[in-house]
Amino acid sequence: MGLYHCEGIILRTRGLGEADRIVTLFTKEKGKIEAVARGARRPRNRLVGVTQQFSYLKALIFTGKSLDQLSQAELIKSFAPLRDDLLKMAYATWWTEVLDVFLPLNEVNSDVFLFLLAGLVVLEKVPDPMLVSRAFELRLLKYLGYEPVLDRCVGCRKAEGPYVGFAPSEGGLLCRSCAGAGGMNLIPVRPAALAFLRELYQVDLRELARRPVDPALGNELGHLLFTFIQLRAEKPLKSLSFLQSLMAWTPPESDLN
Ligand SMILES: [Zn+2]
Repeated sequence: MGLYHCEGIILRTRGLGEADRIVTLFTKEKGKIEAVARGARRPRNRLVGVTQQFSYLKALIFTGKSLDQLSQAELIKSFAPLRDDLLKMAYATWWTEVLDVFLPLNEVNSDVFLFLLAGLVVLEKVPDPMLVSRAFELRLLKYLGYEPVLDRCVGCRKAEGPYVGFAPSEGGLLCRSCAGAGGMNLIPVRPAALAFLRELYQVDLRELARRPVDPALGNELGHLLFTFIQLRAEKPLKSLSFLQSLMAWTPPESDLN
């Protein structure tokens, strides 16, 4: 039993009983935690406004025998524009679901925390989030230890290419001889798209947000990253289906099987 202060971003909320809300908070100090916000679903409760999804808050947590309790909370940034714009909400929900699925509870990762915070700040402002999201997805994979191999063949480790495609199950590119007679699910990726994907590791998100968006490129990279993330998540990601339906997104037809 005890009290501690932390700073965190709300990844997810869900109802508990009639009046309470459980918040999944990604904190700088303690990693991902879950806490009950007592009364947070009653309209006049002081925790209502601060326990919205994506809110960035300063919190005082009371550690109980079972569930921790959000004792006090003060809003640092509400990220309200992310809840008011359907497309941005879909992107932010997708990012926070990926984090929620991949981050274990109570594992401190302040780099990822600061990356999410920076990402949400850019998302709030960017006119079309597509390429910013691709960069976010790719870098999140790297931070979480699932970095796809994009600079050589994941089979023989040779960097000469040419590559026949990206193998989500192997987590990287495959050359012709490693891809063998087929049977493996490969996602074709054009050399230009591959070069752009590698660039996304380096580029500043704010700078990327100012560039014009090429939807065909965004979709091509999306197909690769979504398939890979979905496979690694090992469970259906609801926010991804929602984002895709919102964008009337269809995968390129030329998958090699
Ligand atoms: Zn190879």
